[in-house]
Amino acid sequence: MLSLMSNKFVVNNIKILSSWGYNLPCNTDCTICRVSLNTNSLYYQDKGIDSYVVEGTCGHSFHYECIKPWAEKNKTCPICFANWNYKNKPDEPTKSSKIVKNSNSASSNGW
Ligand SMILES: [Zn+2]
Ligand SMILES: [Zn+2]
Repeated sequence: MLSLMSNKFVVNNIKILSSWGYNLPCNTDCTICRVSLNTNSLYYQDKGIDSYVVEGTCGHSFHYECIKPWAEKNKTCPICFANWNYKNKPDEPTKSSKIVKNSNSASSNGW
């Protein structure tokens, strides 16, 4: 005689799609260079430049110089893969390097 085994599968149907995303705590580290957003990015630490932290519309933040090349290629957030749109953007430093003419030509005609 076969004993009837009651294989009861209780499937918890968790709706993942509706619970992801905004529940995530805002990241405090830049996932691209793995440095805290409170400090300058690895690239800028090298150069001694202050990083600008930008936020995407998905709520994740990165160093601007880190997300910029990523976003240009992938157009998505590297954490949640939502479409990447800048919430804030730094003013691009306009490098207007003025060439200061050093007219220091010695015209002294001493003899
Ligand atoms: Zn970074
Ligand atoms: Zn994101």
